[in-house]
Parts: sequence; structure tokens; C-alpha cells
Amino acid sequence: MGIVIIIGGGAAGMAAAIAAAECGDRVTVLERMDRVGKKILATGNGRCNLMNVGELRFPGGASLAHAVLEKCGAAEQTRFWYHLGLRMRQEDGGRVYPISGMASSVLDTLRLSMEALGIEVITGVHVTGLFKARHGWTVMAGDKKWKADRVIVAGGGCAQPKLGSDGSTWPLLISQGHRMIEARPSLSQIVTDTALIKGLSGIRVRTQVRITRGGIEKYCEAGELLFADYGVTGVCVMQCARYASAGDMLHIDLVRAMGFDTRAELFAELLHRRNNWRQRSLNELLTGLCVPKLGQAIFKAAGIANAIHATCGDLTQKMLNTLAEAAADFALEIRGVKGFESAQVTVGGVSVQEFDTETLESKLAPGIHAAGEVLDVDGDCGGFNLMFAFGSGILAGLNGRACPW
Ligand SMILES: Cc1cc2nc3c(=O)[nH]c(=O)nc-3n(C[C@H](O)[C@H](O)[C@H](O)COP(=O)(O)OP(=O)(O)OC[C@H]3O[C@@H](n4cnc5c(N)ncnc54)[C@H](O)[C@@H]3O)c2cc1C
Repeated sequence: MGIVIIIGGGAAGMAAAIAAAECGDRVTVLERMDRVGKKILATGNGRCNLMNVGELRFPGGASLAHAVLEKCGAAEQTRFWYHLGLRMRQEDGGRVYPISGMASSVLDTLRLSMEALGIEVITGVHVTGLFKARHGWTVMAGDKKWKADRVIVAGGGCAQPKLGSDGSTWPLLISQGHRMIEARPSLSQIVTDTALIKGLSGIRVRTQVRITRGGIEKYCEAGELLFADYGVTGVCVMQCARYASAGDMLHIDLVRAMGFDTRAELFAELLHRRNNWRQRSLNELLTGLCVPKLGQAIFKAAGIANAIHATCGDLTQKMLNTLAEAAADFALEIRGVKGFESAQVTVGGVSVQEFDTETLESKLAPGIHAAGEVLDVDGDCGGFNLMFAFGSGILAGLNGRACPW
């Protein structure tokens, strides 16, 4: 049994606290906000997509993420949650949610389990110092001090600082010799040129999105896209944000969004409509394929003036071809990615190289562990980020001891 201080009462910190207490450690959680787990309540649109049973998707820090989730992945975490009393259900794409459909069930499960295990939770404590003591470590917040045999740093990254994580635990690890990989926001909205998309805010499409730089494809993702007044958002857009920079192009495949597999199929349909709807208003050409405002935007992108009295019969085959092309590659120039205020995760963080993959203990400062988003690990949408936070937290808490559940 040892004395363990956990810095940060988020997903990783609470999982670490429970695992350590279950092994008999005396555990204190220090949390800067007035309550633990504020971010958990905001996850998955309030439903908390807490893990994923499919193939792992970690564009950042994959080596550590895979090593951690090999030891404490979906099966082990399912046992952890069952042990604590949380029941879950699986949805599309291997995403796992609490059975209640409420993120509060996940937080309540963690919070009440900590209480039952006698874990001390001190809120309103902003930790600013971590020092080696003669025996163990000293953690400092203002003029307050705590002594511990082990310290688990679980202060998260910088995404949505209003929910607690403000990057203030990185310096604690840097002070022990750890290297910082520059942090930037990810899983965030993309800001684009808005000339083509004015008035489309709120329209959703299922599509495929590509990012190109100088004509070279950087990333491609399929899923839901939502037009907004500043640009675009939605799961597939957020997934692309990691790869997007100002000046890149975002290509939206509206052929797919209209239910066709290829541009040629859309062209054939447009030709058929033109031939059969000659007297109908040009405005009606895309009726039933997309909402009228999106149709007008495709006309605009194709450079076809939609004159009031124009009819479908006025369209030449060349114009139909241009329309099909504009739909296949509805391109917007990227102005940037929304910042940490809006991002769901942080790319970058403390380098993963100097941590033991079984215990998350620092190889530079034995007795110090790091877990969750404070590390340079980031996953795709789908439950991967919480799964890494919980898995790494549990391993740091267990510290190589057998799992008691
Ligand atoms: C809106 C939103 C939705 C999301 N949805 C999902 C989802 O559905 N599925 C998914 O897998 N991931 C999701 N994520 C990402 C996921 O929430 C994070 O990756 C995860 O919470 C990281 O856990 P963590 O414990 O490392 O950090 P956090 O959850 O950020 O916890 C860190 C804690 O440390 C505290 N802290 C920070 N600094 C200090 C300090 N100096 N002293 C004391 N305490 C400190 C903070 O207040 C905070 O409570 C979402 C993120 C956001 C913002």
C-alpha cells in the first residue's frame, strides 16, 4: 500500500484513482474545477461514447495507445465497468455508450465508486508544482503541499479549457525532464471561404470529404457533414481537422450525398430530367436529390446563372456535365481550424517515448506516471480518446499489480 496523489479528476484520473484504491493504495485526487469529470458530461453529445470495440484508430501516439489498449482494451475495460456497475450498449462503428444513453451515468459510476472506496477528492486545487522529496514526491498548489509515494499526472490537454484541462500539467512533467510535442487543436470545426455556402447553415449531408494541399490529397473521410455559417463541421469534418491548414482545399462529394455512386450516374439522371422536364423551372432540376438551397449552391459552383425564367430545357449537355462535376467536387478553400475553445482533443502533448507501456511510469522520474490526454496521443472520433484515457489511467493506477476485478 502506498500514498498516491492524482493530479486531475477527469476520465484518466478517476480511472487511475479507482484502480489504485482497489489495490489498497491511499488515494487523493486534486482537481482544479469545482467538480470532477466536467468534460465527461459533454462527451458524445451528452451520451458519452466511452470506448470502441472496432479496429483502433490513433493518428497520434499510436505505439503507446496500442500497447496500452492491448493490456487494457475493450474487453478489460468492459470488465472494469461491469465491476463498477455500469451497463453499456454497442452502436454503429463499434461505438460503445452507457445503456442509459446519458454521460452522467458514466460520471456517477466513477464518482460514487471513488466515494465508496474512500478516495479523497479535493476540488478547487490548481496544482502548479511537482518536486522530488527525500522519500517520494511533493505536489504543490499555492501554499498547499501534499506528499506521495507515487503521483499520477492526468491533467488532460488543452481542448475546451472551460471544462478544466488548460495545459497546466504539461510543465509539471517538463520540469522532470520530459519533452513536449507542440500542441494544436484537433477534432474541431473547419473554417472555410463562405462565398459558396452562404445560407446553407444547418444543412446536413452524408458524404465523403477530401483535403488537398497543392493538388495532393492529404486525407479522405466519409460520414456526416454539417454546413455552418463559418464553414463546415460534423464527424467526418472534425476527423479531417488534424490534417487541414489555411490555404488547403476541402472537397465535398455531393454526388454521394445525392445517393449516386459516380459522377456519370448523376449526369445520366440530369440528362434524363432535362429531356423529360423541358418546360419545368431550372430551380426544379435537383428536386428530390438535395434541398433547394444546396441545389442553388451547386449551380453557383458550376457557374450556371439560374435566371428566373430559365427552364430545364435550356441546359446543354455541356452544362449538365459541368453541374455534375461541380457536385462531385464541391470545393471550398480552408481558412483554418477552430481553436482549442471548440476542439475535442489535443494533438501533441508530452512525448510518449519516456513512459513505460505497462505502468505509464516515467523512465526519467520513477514514481511519476502520466495518463490520458496529457500525453502525445490522439484518437479519431468514435470513443478512442476516452478509451485511451480510461485504459492508461487504469494501468497507471494498477502500477503492474494484478487487476482486482
Ligand atoms: C465536447 C467534447 C466531446 C467529446 N466526446 C468524446 C467522446 O464521445 N468519446 C471520446 O472518446 N472522447 C471524447 N472527447 C475527448 C475526451 O473527452 C478526452 O480525450 C478525455 O476526456 C481525456 O481525458 P483526460 O482525463 O486525459 O483529460 P480531461 O478529461 O480533460 O481531465 C483532466 C482533468 O484535470 C484537471 N486539471 C487540469 N489541470 C489541472 C491542474 N493543474 N491541477 C488540478 N487539476 C487539473 C481538469 O480540470 C480536468 O478535470 C470529447 C471531448 C470534448 C471536449
